[in-house]
Amino acid sequence: MSRILMVASEATPFATTGGLADVVGSLPAEISTNGHQVAVLIPRYGRAREAAARPVWTNLYIRVGSRVFNTSIYRAEDTPVPYYFLDYPPLYDRPGLYGDENGDFPDNPIRFGLLSRAALEVARYLFRADIFHCHDWQAGLVPAYLHNALNTDPTFTGCKTLTTIHNLGYRGLYHPGVLAELGLPAHLFRPDLLEFWGNVSFLKSGLVYADAINTVSPTYAREIQTAEFGEGLDGLLRARGAVLSGILNGADYSRWDPATDPFIAANYSADNPVPKRECKLALIREFGLPEAAMDRPLLGIVSRFTGQKGFDLIAGLANDLFNQDVYLVALGSGEPQYEGLFRWLAGQYPERVGLVIGYNEALSHRVEAGADIFLMPSRYEPCGLNQIYSLRYGTPPVVRATGGLEDTVDEETGFKFRDFSSWALMNAIREACAAWEDRKAWAKRMQIGMKRDFSWHRSAQSYSELYQRLLG
Ligand code: ADP
Repeated sequence: MSRILMVASEATPFATTGGLADVVGSLPAEISTNGHQVAVLIPRYGRAREAAARPVWTNLYIRVGSRVFNTSIYRAEDTPVPYYFLDYPPLYDRPGLYGDENGDFPDNPIRFGLLSRAALEVARYLFRADIFHCHDWQAGLVPAYLHNALNTDPTFTGCKTLTTIHNLGYRGLYHPGVLAELGLPAHLFRPDLLEFWGNVSFLKSGLVYADAINTVSPTYAREIQTAEFGEGLDGLLRARGAVLSGILNGADYSRWDPATDPFIAANYSADNPVPKRECKLALIREFGLPEAAMDRPLLGIVSRFTGQKGFDLIAGLANDLFNQDVYLVALGSGEPQYEGLFRWLAGQYPERVGLVIGYNEALSHRVEAGADIFLMPSRYEPCGLNQIYSLRYGTPPVVRATGGLEDTVDEETGFKFRDFSSWALMNAIREACAAWEDRKAWAKRMQIGMKRDFSWHRSAQSYSELYQRLLG
């Protein structure tokens, strides 16, 4: 039996900004049923203080560079595996995870450098680990510390590291001065090590030093080895291709199942889909759309509003789209440019577009349940969860054929387009709306999608196999 310490910046339900949190919230319990012992370490942010209220180690002094941090480790109650929280209020007791209204926190390199360094102390005192499973750039320095600062420490002899890339778009880039601040040797500032176009990249550390790398879908694992998707790291990823694999994320169906979902107007299932109409009616009322929308296709969007998600394409087809006699509800928040785009749409087509700007979990369930068709025109998508949820909710998705969207949606269950163009997206939406008119065939399509299984079980099995390979 192997012992795995996952290191990450988010985990549902304690701290969530996106799909990473869903993974770190769900995967550990599932992996532990495969005979591994798993624990998780995340920061004790302001919003996690209440849930992580029990201190299990106090006065844990951690030296990083020239500073010594007097930290504590807390634990949450009633979790299926131990969730540990790194407490150091001056760095983590803030409302935001990564920033505030002024942008990213300037001390993020030390916030996440300390997290990585603390993972090694947690492994020394609290939870012996055979494998450090590091998620994204925030945990990217764990392998660098192991290789450079602690390579002669017998506690860690034989320990392996796995870096999981949830999104290559976030590389954790900081000025070279942070190396000294982080207690890492200056000679790591080399193009074959941590240097990336004049900066230090935390993610690159995870890619250079980890014993294995994976990402969250087989297609994205291939794509990131190309210049188009590689974010400047494709050469390194090709060089490490022999240890790079793709493991699809799963969905947590205990939270995302229309048969039991407490947030939606009526529960329904593949064998009893009729109450979905009640969800649609409740949704159009909630978004203030006319009841005529009941007899037309209702498109749904739930997303972070960022360039990655491909909403630029919608700007180019608004006229065409609403000439189709369709309706749209959108829930999201993010970059001002995209919030502005959706505000413009809602202002331009008030009878057609319902918009809520914000992050609202309950409402995201109601959009999944009430919409007829889900839209994800992503520029790139490492895995994507919402298309998996929308399959289960009988809301066939229109997706761009990239990353996890390519791997989870097929002709039977949804609609795919390849070119990143408004024209290609519009064609796919047209196709979906035409298919919606054939009520019988549509019901069949919904049913096939609702029965597809993307549970964590399969992913956990793949991670178990990967851990076993790593430990030889
Ligand atoms: P990403 O991690 O790139 O944001 P994913 O599709 O993998 O995309 O995961 C997004 C997760 O975040 C889903 O669980 C989705 O429901 C949730 N989410 C995103 N935006 C919102 C929002 N505005 N309100 C509620 N939930 C949201």
